[in-house]
Amino acid sequence: MQSGHLGRALAAELARHPRWFVLTGAGVSTESGIPAYRDELGEWRHKPPMRYQTFVGSEAAQRRYWSRSVLGYERIRRARPNAAHRALAELEQRGHVGAIVTQNVDDLHRRAGSQRVIDLHGRLSRIVCLDCRWEDSRDVLQRQLTADNPDLSSQRSTPGAPDGDAIVETRAELRLPRCSKCGGTLKPAVVFFGETVPAERVRAAYAELDKADAVLAIGSSLMVFSGYRFVYRAASRRLPIVILNAGRTRADPLATLKLEGPCGPVLEDAVRELS
Ligand code: NAD
Ligand code: ZN
Repeated sequence: MQSGHLGRALAAELARHPRWFVLTGAGVSTESGIPAYRDELGEWRHKPPMRYQTFVGSEAAQRRYWSRSVLGYERIRRARPNAAHRALAELEQRGHVGAIVTQNVDDLHRRAGSQRVIDLHGRLSRIVCLDCRWEDSRDVLQRQLTADNPDLSSQRSTPGAPDGDAIVETRAELRLPRCSKCGGTLKPAVVFFGETVPAERVRAAYAELDKADAVLAIGSSLMVFSGYRFVYRAASRRLPIVILNAGRTRADPLATLKLEGPCGPVLEDAVRELS
């Protein structure tokens, strides 16, 4: 189907139910140049990302993460919201969206103007101390890492993974950044694989789901339980579920409508159709 047909079908659904719970994944940001983890068949496109246990378990792993993320983060910081982010912000403005629960960590929904955003997996633009829980901006740390390790940012790298990791030569000598309050271990304020989403964040997302009339899941393979659980709960409450994705998702059997296509053009068409 052409994106025009998909856009019309989506617009008709959007008009049918007043309050939408929108769940987004990495596919919403691919048009901004941030690659997704999985392809159309739900398979890994990169090597699996850093796990929480690996990160906290060794300073070597932390050194590896921070040295690669100097480049990876820069790429994400420079990314701009695309048509999908802009269309969702517009839909919120027009009163269709109760909340966006995003699995992305790139801040692009907020930067496009969406206000009711729950960052399920945190934000790459923040860092947290694992010892005293103090949070700070990643940009400050980024400047410090670049200043302390000038040759890092001039290294060549392959296009990074969506979590800010990039594939570069590891520098064993990188000085580990430390918490400026307590000297403790710093971590990006994102939920790594193998880490659990803070309970109050999940509760807040469920509360939004409970207020919604319908669910729209966009650009997510839904292979990760963290996002899948919302679609599952919606299905058990018999809410309408629309899935917009290029390719297969784990929740396809639960969808009341599956739209298979690129999210930017389809959302743009839907917004135009609703005007
Ligand atoms: P995923 O990579 O598992 O799935 C992305 C899906 O989007 C795939 O099915 C793919 O075919 C589809 N897709 C790609 N481009 C598309 C487009 N233009 N239009 C429509 N569909 C498109 O992503 P996920 O389900 O979000 O799970 C990935 C995990 O990785 C999450 O836990 C998330 O936290 C994490 N992740 C995402 C991002 C980000 O910030 N951009 C970053 C880091 C991690
Ligand atoms: Zn600290």
